[in-house]
Amino acid sequence: MDNLKQIETQLARMTKVFMDGADPIVIFDLNRRVLDMNHEAERVFGWTRDELLGGTTRHLLPSEFHGLADEVAERLARGETVRNYETAVRTKSGSIVPILVTSFRLTDDVGSPVATAAIAKDITQLKRVNDRLSQRNRELREFANVLAHDLSAPLRTIQGFSDLILQDSKELSPNQREYIELIRQGVERMDRLISDLLDYARIERGEIPTTSIDFNSVLKAALDNLHAAIHKTGAVITSDSLPVANANRTQMVQLLQNLIGNAIKFHGDEPPRIHVRVELSGDEWKFSVADNGIGIDAPNVNKIFDVFYRLHSEEDVPGTGIGLATCKAIVERHGGRIWVSSQVGDGATFHFTIPASNTP
Ligand code: ADP
Repeated sequence: MDNLKQIETQLARMTKVFMDGADPIVIFDLNRRVLDMNHEAERVFGWTRDELLGGTTRHLLPSEFHGLADEVAERLARGETVRNYETAVRTKSGSIVPILVTSFRLTDDVGSPVATAAIAKDITQLKRVNDRLSQRNRELREFANVLAHDLSAPLRTIQGFSDLILQDSKELSPNQREYIELIRQGVERMDRLISDLLDYARIERGEIPTTSIDFNSVLKAALDNLHAAIHKTGAVITSDSLPVANANRTQMVQLLQNLIGNAIKFHGDEPPRIHVRVELSGDEWKFSVADNGIGIDAPNVNKIFDVFYRLHSEEDVPGTGIGLATCKAIVERHGGRIWVSSQVGDGATFHFTIPASNTP
């Protein structure tokens, strides 16, 4: 008797959690007809239980989500849990509510499927903020792009006229020649900054085509581009055998080139020794580029991924401070993360991940 009472109390508690839960929950039978739904589902979707019980909800899905619903149904039939897929519901008043749903089969005592549970999250606010952020980002990138193009024109003029002065004026004093040489160096630096800034702005613009690429050949292309620096410093670069994954080839070459280029540039007394490592960690490829260089002495070491942030002056080590920001934009565009671990005087290791679900 006591047992029965306990079960009843437990059941009442579970029912309350189901009915009053903060997220919409709908239970379907195996023919996709609504068996039950909670208060939050009524509130978000704008339909009462009585209106939906016993019927299907296909007519509530905007037509562009019908294909996805069928695909989810197939995966559920195979016994999979389908997590966090984005879909939408047309409310009774006709508005569209974007939702993030996780669906799974409910089974009986012997494990046979009896129903499907769909737990939804109303992501209207999230989408609104996201859209606003994307819009702001697009505007900022557009601004950086226009600015970089507009700055190029006066720069060409300064460059052209300083060349002319050097060529045409026979009576320039050594001091005057030196001043003009300094102007030309300033122009060159500005030119590098603009070109790096354009590269950075380009990463996030438009669609990036991804294909199945062999990272061994990506590394080879990056090393070919770094040939002069490798030759000059006697750098030795080794690598694990790298995987094949879906990514944008041009951007991956740029990523490895920037990281290995830095590993060479910030070398210590010894010739650079650099190793590219890779391992499968959960559902992502974790790459690392380890060097034996000067390491990084910064309390807030991840600031080096910000645009223009440098720990060295242009006189000590030339650079624009945009290379790592570009790496970060590339990795994040591919759904990965990038970070660094380092001890001063003991080299630096840059890590980045690429989702292995991108693997063909
Ligand atoms: P740049 O190389 O043009 O200065 P980056 O954005 O590529 O710009 O790098 C930012 C800063 O991070 C560098 O100026 C340097 O101080 C530091 N850094 C990057 N890579 C390394 C490395 N492998 N070893 C030591 N310091 C590094």
